[in-house]
Amino acid sequence: MRKFAAYFYFMENKRVRVRFAPSPTGGLHMGGVRVALFNYLFAKKHGGDFILRIEDTDQTRFVAGAEEYIINSLKWCGIEPSEGVGFGDGKHAPYRQSERKELGIYKKYADKLIEGGHAYYAFDTAEELDEMRKRLEAAKVAAPQYNSVSRQNMRNSLTLSEDEVKKLLDAGTPHVIRLKVPRNEEIRFHDVIRGWVVVNSAQVDDKVLLKSDGMPTYHLAHIVDDIEMEISHAMRGEEWLPSAPAHILIYRYLGMEDKMPQLAHMPLILKPDGNGKLSKRDKSGLPMFPLNWSDPRDNTDYVGYKESGFFPDAFINMLVLLGWNPGDNKEIMSKDEMIELFSLERINKAGAKFDPEKTKWFNQQYLRKKSDEELAKLFLPMIKEKGFDVSEAFAIKATKLVREKAHFVNEFWGFGSFLFITPDSYDQDVLTKRLNEQTRNFVVELTAVLTDQADFSPAVTEATFKATAEKLGIGAGQVMQLFRVVVTGVGGGPNMFEIMELIGKEESIKRMNLFLERNK
Ligand code: GLU
Repeated sequence: MRKFAAYFYFMENKRVRVRFAPSPTGGLHMGGVRVALFNYLFAKKHGGDFILRIEDTDQTRFVAGAEEYIINSLKWCGIEPSEGVGFGDGKHAPYRQSERKELGIYKKYADKLIEGGHAYYAFDTAEELDEMRKRLEAAKVAAPQYNSVSRQNMRNSLTLSEDEVKKLLDAGTPHVIRLKVPRNEEIRFHDVIRGWVVVNSAQVDDKVLLKSDGMPTYHLAHIVDDIEMEISHAMRGEEWLPSAPAHILIYRYLGMEDKMPQLAHMPLILKPDGNGKLSKRDKSGLPMFPLNWSDPRDNTDYVGYKESGFFPDAFINMLVLLGWNPGDNKEIMSKDEMIELFSLERINKAGAKFDPEKTKWFNQQYLRKKSDEELAKLFLPMIKEKGFDVSEAFAIKATKLVREKAHFVNEFWGFGSFLFITPDSYDQDVLTKRLNEQTRNFVVELTAVLTDQADFSPAVTEATFKATAEKLGIGAGQVMQLFRVVVTGVGGGPNMFEIMELIGKEESIKRMNLFLERNK
């Protein structure tokens, strides 16, 4: 348990405040939704706050509509922040970094780092940086970067005289502010999921903190905001782990290590075969986005879980188990149960494989939990779209018949279109196998008896069916499938006698006569 000592220390002393901090650079991928979900569950579990912060400092990657998409996705998933863009202002508004920049929040921190000698001005042009990279490559430097060694040959406030720097600044020469990373120092930090991580500062580059347009980079901006917004735990994707050492230094140099949130880097979601990271172009046939997303960057339309017929609860239930488990084999969990069972310690380090079949299974489990009435509300518009104006009561009965094997409500139609449409063709394989003079006689006889029968309840029609078979000396089992084909056109489906009750006597008899007419 020693590993978690620091974590519990923070838990005791800080109100839990976590943030989901996406950049509006595209649609919110399901991996992003999972990060949001874990943040949400953790906040709820500890009676804390969950904040949505929009990290839009990289204007070159800004995508119109992305912010709205993120907000709508969180709403659909039912993982709503307690404060933040689109969800109401708390005391830390604004929550969009571009707006915070206008308030001079980031500059203040960058200046503090400069004053402390932990950051510096760099005036290098794009060409000079390019030359540097080429020079380092030619010298066979494995990972060319602007760092404690290479900065000595560049144009920055560490190599230029004070006078020169002042002149350049006064003249408004474009420049950035970089973090001054020490040459050879051990950086140790604790990650709730990964335990202690140790990195030598020689591997860390002098990250740009403030860009020439005055915008902070992610590295500076998120730290400033995490401090100012009193964030207790920073839970984010594994791809940020390599930057964490630089972040540790920034907290240290600001003298604000006590304000540093606990770090928790989430494992990757892997492709179904386990080979590599799940990408938005995955071909497993399942959506990668919560809602439909038209990406203006690659002119591609991505289909969403919502539009594919998934229930939001099933979607987040599937997601929560990608990299986390409740400690036993429990799989189906309501949101309240997830909140109760959730803990950061049960998040795995290893990547989690996305399982398309299991994902559909989850939806089926949630479908099974819903009443006929609930499902019929979703089915009815689909029936109407096909041009059939049936009552809600009819849709409820139809739902009862077709729901059993379905994973999605949008499969209902396929499982029972014959409830609405008189068949115009018949399963030929069944006819070849089952239709002969004797069985046709059975259909003739049954049609005659049923025509004279007023009671069309399933028990009664079934009894008639059996009695007629017996009378003709045929096993009921022998004619059952044929009879299905007579009434529905297909050889399988829900209980035949319930089908007949629903479509009614008139329609049933009509179909039987039609069959006999067509198969003389
Ligand atoms: N803006 C970052 C992202 O989109 C947030 C990382 C973090 O949570 O610190 O991944």
